[in-house]
Amino acid sequence: AKDQGKGSVAVYDPTRHAASLERLALQNELTRAVEEDELVLHFQPTITLASGRITGFEALVRWQHPERGLLPPSEFVPAAERSGQIVALGGWVLRAACRAATDLQRPDGPVSMAVNVSADQLASPLFLDEVRGALEDSGLPGHLLTLEVTESVVLGDVTAAAEALSALRALGVSVAIDDFGTGYSSLSYLSRLPVDILKVDKSFIDKIGAEGHADTVTLAILEMSRTMRMVTVAEGVETVEQASWLSERACGVGQGYYWSRPVPLDQARGLLGPPSEP
Ligand code: C2E
Ligand code: CA
Ligand code: CA
Ligand code: CA
Repeated sequence: AKDQGKGSVAVYDPTRHAASLERLALQNELTRAVEEDELVLHFQPTITLASGRITGFEALVRWQHPERGLLPPSEFVPAAERSGQIVALGGWVLRAACRAATDLQRPDGPVSMAVNVSADQLASPLFLDEVRGALEDSGLPGHLLTLEVTESVVLGDVTAAAEALSALRALGVSVAIDDFGTGYSSLSYLSRLPVDILKVDKSFIDKIGAEGHADTVTLAILEMSRTMRMVTVAEGVETVEQASWLSERACGVGQGYYWSRPVPLDQARGLLGPPSEP
């Protein structure tokens, strides 16, 4: 909330009191949401540009709130990260995403599933076992799971992050750096981390074809990815111009409203076509 400029600071601030009550209410509601299955996943396809085929999905959480309707993650994920509830919420997401991924496999080619992972999850000593458990329970092979972490998640303690990610990779899972290019640090950390995939942030993709240096920056990221043998995913692709620019420059994978918004599981199945079809 913005400062309303009302002058001196009161000892008892009703606005702040209301805000903390609201926070507490949200925390209680979030606990209920995880326990009572009010969370839902939507799935956004990722397209291999060379073939034009869907080769994966990203799981994106929503909250089917009994009074407020379907809430986007911006309404509750940051709060869950602050309260520590993201660990339980993220555990639910991981299991549900792996189950959905099993459901989305087709005989004509494997379909991978990407899951967003917050800092507290990666730092938890239980996380490795949770991932192993989610793979075992769903029957999803490890190589079909990708864990997405942002630069800020790995930058706090690069050594600890590198260790956690290496242990996860030993399960066969891939590691992606999400929103790549938005962090403020040097690139030197990248060479110290076991990373398979770079997801170029939408803010760069938005500027493809526009004035300025965004094209050059995106090209440099593509080049660097290639050198480091990483797959590049362009996120937030919205236009045919962006899609062709990327595929002409051999960007591996695209994701964005140009192909599909995130959709519920039954629609995700529909995007792939029937399971029996070769
Ligand atoms: P993200 O991981 O960067 O996910 C991409 C977001 O961009 C998604 O928003 C997606 O719907 C949106 N998007 C994809 N393509 C386009 C496009 O072409 N144009 C535009 N304008 N937007 C596009 P969403 O689903 O609202 O998720 C927002 C963020 O919430 C995610 O950003 C991620 O950071 C976080 N989030 C979502 N699910 C989870 C989760 O299960 N765990 C954690 N920790 N965070 C999550
Ligand atoms: Ca992501
Ligand atoms: Ca992203
Ligand atoms: Ca982004």
